[in-house]
Amino acid sequence: MNPSVSTAPTLGAARELLARLVAFDTTSAKTNIPLIAFVEAYLAEHGVASRRVPTPDGLKASLFATIGPGEAGGIALSGHTDVVPVASQNWDTDPFQLIERDGKLYGRGTCDMKGYLACCLALVPSLKARRLKVPFHIAFSYDEEVGCTGVRPMIGEFGKSLPVPRMVFVGEPSNMTVVDAHKGPVRWRVELTGRAAHSSMPHYGVNAIAYAARLIGEILRMEEELKAGPLNARFDPPWTTTQVTQIEGGTASNIVPVPCWFGWECRALPGFDPFTLQRRLEKFATEKLLPEMRKLAPESEIKIRAMNHVSAFAADNKSGIVPLTLKLAGQNETLAVSYCTEAGLFQDGGAPAIICGPGDIAQAHTVNEFIRIEELEKCLGFLGRLADWAEA
Ligand SMILES: [Zn+2]
Repeated sequence: MNPSVSTAPTLGAARELLARLVAFDTTSAKTNIPLIAFVEAYLAEHGVASRRVPTPDGLKASLFATIGPGEAGGIALSGHTDVVPVASQNWDTDPFQLIERDGKLYGRGTCDMKGYLACCLALVPSLKARRLKVPFHIAFSYDEEVGCTGVRPMIGEFGKSLPVPRMVFVGEPSNMTVVDAHKGPVRWRVELTGRAAHSSMPHYGVNAIAYAARLIGEILRMEEELKAGPLNARFDPPWTTTQVTQIEGGTASNIVPVPCWFGWECRALPGFDPFTLQRRLEKFATEKLLPEMRKLAPESEIKIRAMNHVSAFAADNKSGIVPLTLKLAGQNETLAVSYCTEAGLFQDGGAPAIICGPGDIAQAHTVNEFIRIEELEKCLGFLGRLADWAEA
């Protein structure tokens, strides 16, 4: 250790960094490149080279950087740079300006999850001053809020142009408790095509909305069955859920509707294959509904497409990441949550992950989002202990 440099990341540095990060409007629909360029420059100032994993159009990028010996294995500090929109939210302050009030820091993304990114970056000078035996990686992604899509190309480079981390610390807001499991969401879009007729002569048409209703009926039957089990009492609710989330159909009040589409989702418990639900709905469509529809209108269609899938997450026991995180966080037990994170994707990519980050998920995505300053302090303490561990 270089005695002239303190190894404690400071709260002041984290706050300053958070103010800079919040000032970039990185709503998922927008570019995150100005923020990425800022982080690159900050890392470069501290002698740390970083690599972008950009989108093909160059409008967004993930950033990966390594501090410490070599590159193989190591600890990855992972977070997403994008935030949810502020549109239609009536904020008391400018959401892209960090404001302190009563021990809380207000601003879009303070909690989800630029607070964690700021703590990770504030750690960099102290990491540089240490004699690390295990390298640290910074792994910042984009487009997490729109289906965890942005982190996938970066994970795809693990074992190719990027090293596979030995452990990934995903700092989604958990009040610095240790989350070792989450459900895995799948979203589907179902499109139906019927045949038009005058609504007074429905027997000449095929009503796409009516057939959509029958598919939804099958989804509701599945929902009831899933409530019976399998159950996992660690989750709220303890069963795999399904939900119809969107629907649109028809063209006019006097026409038998030709088009109808609806969206539905499943949030699967770890160990449950959500695609069994898709196969069951497809079977119902092909064996029951389509033959009826096509008797009159051979052009009838039902298309069921999975739009997005994030794996359910259950921490890898062999990696030792759970006991290590519990010890560093000063916790006795782990928690399971129903929302999803990038942890399931890291784990699929061969990098054992855990979720532990500052801030309360209750403040994520809300109007007047904030993070308590004490949460940042707890996080800096945690990261400092993680760095001690990596040096020992
Ligand atoms: Zn988040």
